[in-house]
Amino acid sequence: MDGSTHRLFAASVSIATSTASGAPLWQAAASAVIATASSAGWTSPDSDQSWLDWVPGGHRGLTHWWGLPALLSVAVLIYVPPEAAWALWALLLGWGSHLLGDFVFGERPPGIPMAPWWAYAGLGLNSGGLVERGLRWIFPVFILWQALVLITGELVPWSA
Ligand SMILES: [Zn+2]
Repeated sequence: MDGSTHRLFAASVSIATSTASGAPLWQAAASAVIATASSAGWTSPDSDQSWLDWVPGGHRGLTHWWGLPALLSVAVLIYVPPEAAWALWALLLGWGSHLLGDFVFGERPPGIPMAPWWAYAGLGLNSGGLVERGLRWIFPVFILWQALVLITGELVPWSA
């Protein structure tokens, strides 16, 4: 999955999570920014192409293992007080959404490692292909609707 699609997907998942959890608007906005930032580029699992290029497994190696965010989630649950945890959840959500995106899109290697940096699994859809290009057109409209639902609390915001 390409960077721009990763960011759109992270924003969408973040807004959905904030809406479902009833987070205040400022927190929903901040979470979307954090999740978008940790979903692509040097702050994301793709840091294995820049400053983390030494980690085992190379690109789509250890940083793309689902176990890391899973372990960190457990640590957040145990050690971080709930009122302070939202920013870390946003970070983990952005990171996790990247892994989900790479699970669906990407042929070389196919998907993401099920073990720390081996045993790959994924749907192997063409990264940057027709389906992903279609999603890049649909996501902005979908996210706009999500934001309106979040702000107005109405599923059909324009009818209110
Ligand atoms: Zn990646």
